[in-house]
Amino acid sequence: MSRYWSDIVHRLVPYVPGEQPALAKPVKLNTNENPYPPSPRVVEAIRAELGDHGESLRRYPDPVSKRLRAAVAAHHGLNTDQVFVGNGSDEVLAHAFQALLKHDLPLLFPDITYSFYPTYARLYDVQYRTVPLDDAFAIRIEDYAQPNGGVIFPNPNAPTGHALPLAQIEKLVAANTESVVVIDEAYVDFGAESAIALIDRYPNLLVVHTTSKSRSLAGMRVGFAFGHADLIDALNRVKDSFNSYPLDRLAQAAATAAYEDADWLRTTSSRVMASREKLTAALVQLGFEVVPSAANFVFARHPQHDAVLISTKLREQEIFVRHFNAPRVNQHLRISIGTDAECDTLVAALKDIVK
Ligand SMILES: *Cc1c(COP(=O)(O)O)cnc(C)c1O
Repeated sequence: MSRYWSDIVHRLVPYVPGEQPALAKPVKLNTNENPYPPSPRVVEAIRAELGDHGESLRRYPDPVSKRLRAAVAAHHGLNTDQVFVGNGSDEVLAHAFQALLKHDLPLLFPDITYSFYPTYARLYDVQYRTVPLDDAFAIRIEDYAQPNGGVIFPNPNAPTGHALPLAQIEKLVAANTESVVVIDEAYVDFGAESAIALIDRYPNLLVVHTTSKSRSLAGMRVGFAFGHADLIDALNRVKDSFNSYPLDRLAQAAATAAYEDADWLRTTSSRVMASREKLTAALVQLGFEVVPSAANFVFARHPQHDAVLISTKLREQEIFVRHFNAPRVNQHLRISIGTDAECDTLVAALKDIVK
């Protein structure tokens, strides 16, 4: 604390990201990173962009990421004016809070969801109301039929992994005509249906994607928003009032190459999904209750063993999982899907802990 702080800084409750341990080979299942490397084309593209002496780095990058937006628009069958790009989807979400979700009525999001949403709400002074998930941790669309200044949730939801079918999302978007609905699809490539298909019909829908999870580029910080050109325009107005060059040259080259290799995405995502089903079965075998997941993580609890105790014992063996000290879920652990070998190491350790 300092007398030099602004009022807003006094009131902030910053988001706490998962730990990045300084160990040689941790079994790191705590931040939903992809266990596989990005497409080899990504590495080639970064090398090509850099050149022999890094001479391209002298110059500012393209402020509007034109090539990248064209590649992504083509991939999703959109126009480039329906695509916004930012420095990680967290930045895209932050701009959406400021540009589209701040109104007189409260923003609605689930009681159990991505914990960055209340953080952005406080940063941008957006009033909000949380809507409880049902007992199976599912979002009930009917509960959002109330006056609001916007709706936001991930699909699949985080940290539960539960996914809503596209028909449910469409029902919400069709009914919620007075404000914007933001669907955060950070995990959509691991088995859920994307709402991008609805964009041409609903001017109040914004869909947010990231290259951090399914495209293995968390270290590059590239995220997108897709929606009606008027919504994208609002995001660009905030972006150009904040940082004209949110994506560096290497990130633009890397992400473009990642979108040009759809085969790589399919292969690595299928592997992750197969490992998820294997891990789920092994956890159930050990007595865990596991929420059915359409993401690259599972959300599980053991009725006889305390979640903090389990995660502490795993940590002693350099195995990292995520625990959230929040109501309703403080006995759950969120476990990212690693390679099969990492999942096996985890299961062996858990077997010992819960025996
Ligand atoms: C990981 C995650 C993000 C952030 O992704 P970045 O693009 O790495 O900033 C956004 N939303 C949800 C729900 C996530 O889990």
